[in-house]
This record gives sequence, C-alpha cells and structure tokens, in this order.
Amino acid sequence: MKLKIAQVGEPVLRQKARQIAADEINTPSVQQLIEFMRETMHDAPGVGLAAPQIGQSLQLIVIEDRQEYIDRLSETEAKERGRVPVPFQVLINPILTAKTHANAEFHEGCLSFAGFVGLVPRLTSVKVEGLNEKGQPVVIEADGWYARILQHEIDHLHGVLCIDHMKLHSLTTYENYQKFWR
Ligand code: ZN
Repeated sequence: MKLKIAQVGEPVLRQKARQIAADEINTPSVQQLIEFMRETMHDAPGVGLAAPQIGQSLQLIVIEDRQEYIDRLSETEAKERGRVPVPFQVLINPILTAKTHANAEFHEGCLSFAGFVGLVPRLTSVKVEGLNEKGQPVVIEADGWYARILQHEIDHLHGVLCIDHMKLHSLTTYENYQKFWR
C-alpha cells in the first residue's frame, strides 16, 4: 500500500522519533509498516524513506538504490558521487558515527520537500549500527552516496531535514536543476 508522504511543515517531521523495542520488531504492525514503506519508497520513487515521513514517529528507515536510478546519471556524475547500487535494507534504532571529517557537496532532495534540491555537504564515510527487520544487530560501513543516504534518513529520526544543512543560495526546483545545474 502506498502511504502519504508528509511534507515540510508537518510537525511529525520535526519530532524526535522513538525507538522500537526489540520485541516489537516482529509484530505484524511493524512488519506491515516496513512493507508499506518499501512500496511507498519504490512508488515515489526514492532511495530512502524514514518512518516520520509517513507520519509514524518511530526510529525506522528503509533504503534501496537501484541500478536503474544510477543509470540516469552520466558515468562521471555516478563516479563523483560514489554512487553504487544498495540492496533493499531496513534499519531500526540506527546510530551513526563519522568515519572521516571529509565532506562532499552535491545537490540533494527529499520526498518531504518535493520538487526542490540544493547543495548539501555530507560526510563521505560513516558507520551505522542498528537492528534489521528481524531485530538482529547490523553494522554498516558506508561511503559515497550510500553514506549520504544514511545521513539523510537518520537525520529524519531526529527531526532534522536536509534543508537544515543546505546552502540555501543553491536551492532550485528539480526542473531547473536538470536544466541549469547538472
Ligand atoms: Zn528526506
């Protein structure tokens, strides 16, 4: 089922999401929420979705970056961004730590700020610890665009949006980004 994606200004996007208890993960309601979030992300389409974006203030994110999305970039763009396919992944109660001080700046958008992108600096390498959809511990070491997606989605769990980090002078509609800034 496709869920409605909250847009900037909806208070749920600014709340700190609550953790999901280990014994709650295998319940039908959480499992169904994961499936609905997966469908909603694919439909959008997006490379990540956080539970607050569909109105649930829970520490749950889904991620998937597909080859077909990457194929829309030039080879140079994909390489500069360190963009490689990421299989579908669920992360619950994730904790992110920096693996570097190095930043990369690229245009970034959000399904909750539909139609706009702007330059957002992000760490190029991060480590994330959390639980998967079965409640098992996972540790992820991510670089490039994958690291960017993780930072973006985990920010959502803390009420932070990409516009908070954005260099606002670079804000543009997605259409004008394609036309002038690629
Ligand atoms: Zn977002």
